[in-house]
Amino acid sequence: MPELLSLQEAQRLVLERAEPLAAEVVSVAEAAGRVLAEAALAQVDLPPFPSSAMDGYAVRAADTPGRLPVVARIAAGRPAPRALAAGEAMEISTGGVVPEGADAVIPVEYVVQRDNDIEIGDAVAVSVNVRPRGGDVRAGAVVCPAGVRVSVAQLGALAAAGLTELRCARRPRVAVLATGTELRQPGEPLGPGEIYESNGPMLAAAVAAEGAEVERLPPVEDDADAHRAALERGLEADVLVTTGGVSVGPHDLVRTIESELGVDEVFWGVAVKPGKPVAFGVRGRTLVFGLPGNPVSSLVGVELLVRPALRALQGLTEPLPRFDVGVLGASMRRTPTRDELARARTRIDGERVVLEPLPGQESHMIVRAAAADVLVLVPRGKGELAAGEAVRYLRLS
Ligand code: AMP
Ligand code: MG
Repeated sequence: MPELLSLQEAQRLVLERAEPLAAEVVSVAEAAGRVLAEAALAQVDLPPFPSSAMDGYAVRAADTPGRLPVVARIAAGRPAPRALAAGEAMEISTGGVVPEGADAVIPVEYVVQRDNDIEIGDAVAVSVNVRPRGGDVRAGAVVCPAGVRVSVAQLGALAAAGLTELRCARRPRVAVLATGTELRQPGEPLGPGEIYESNGPMLAAAVAAEGAEVERLPPVEDDADAHRAALERGLEADVLVTTGGVSVGPHDLVRTIESELGVDEVFWGVAVKPGKPVAFGVRGRTLVFGLPGNPVSSLVGVELLVRPALRALQGLTEPLPRFDVGVLGASMRRTPTRDELARARTRIDGERVVLEPLPGQESHMIVRAAAADVLVLVPRGKGELAAGEAVRYLRLS
């Protein structure tokens, strides 16, 4: 039996074929989760003027300690009426423009007010409580580089730096198709041999979480004509994700019909457990994933292959899933020929993340898998990994 493709090799073959999609203009307000196609540059200095960090009094540090007359009151959004002269103070609010001539702000709690004067007991250092113009970023400098997904903080930064529009890769259009005569929609009564169609909604949620626009095609029976019609439609998307029908049974039609429709298969079979019979191919620029029907196999396939492809299509510079390091809470048997993605729950123990493997590791057990918050990567090999051993894990969303 030829050796199966490794997971790393499969991911490389997928990413090689996932060219970033064309960019489009997106308003900053809509940009959370979108991937920047080019670096976003600050439009202004931030802060745009020397601004006060406190409610207090703008002074010259050299005039402290001492008693100073308050000659003006500066509200946020209104510049000082004139420069501050030696021996003067001006009341100022947080975010107010520190006037010319002032070089420090004394918080209101540190002064004693006497009529229209303030008394300052201690010497104040130059620059205290003054936020210099451009101290956060200078106009023209990079606020966010290309190839990152705009985070919540970045959205704030982009707006603060005066950006209104960004260039982002367009969202990939992803068609999701479930195959199998046994599948019924949730809500319908189950006849003999039937089960609820659960992979479609699960995969649709996973690809939507990755920023894709999802088209859910109606599930098809294990019938060649039904497959042909649905797959033809799905192949018009940027990415087609099917589930079921990629094994070796007589009713597994997906690969055969896709081949008739001009899909070039890149690989079929990867050394992972669960999810081995996964297929990947291309037709033109469309990426075509055939995930196995067992629900946990589909879950592993979408996390390890489909989501990375969607990130690469959106131009993310690091499209591969990010594994962290934790320690096993119990020993785990290894599989000789396949890397296993075991379902586990994390627990924090002091400085360590402990991974507790869950009972019910079979590929049909989606309810058991749903109790997991991570997939633990158990590298293929002989024997077992001992409790306490360091392993890598992938957080599930
Ligand atoms: P297949 O890959 O088509 O051989 O299916 C493998 C197993 O997964 C079978 O037990 C199917 O009934 C089940 N299965 C296939 N598709 C789905 C689906 N969309 N939702 C839930 N289970 C499925
Ligand atoms: Mg099937």
